[in-house]
Amino acid sequence: MKQFNVRINVTTEAYFDTDIEADSHEEAEQIANNLVWNDELTDDLRQHAEIIEERYDATQWFVCECGHGFNENQMTDNEECPACETPIPDDQLEE
Ligand SMILES: [Zn+2]
Repeated sequence: MKQFNVRINVTTEAYFDTDIEADSHEEAEQIANNLVWNDELTDDLRQHAEIIEERYDATQWFVCECGHGFNENQMTDNEECPACETPIPDDQLEE
């Protein structure tokens, strides 16, 4: 098997209502804002969250025979270890 690091980028959106006592619209909205940022609506947020955008970017990692670790962006143009120039084994490269 090959080794990968995958950066996960998920954007979620949540719509739900909560009842708040306040003297004005502005105060009610400010209280709601505070509840969100103070993590007091975490369960509601989680329950109503929908994924609207997702991205997964995989970067392959290699370890050469000498133990140098490096990723696919760091290997040389000749597909060698950037530190010791050992060729990367064929079974680690994409066909
Ligand atoms: Zn090396």
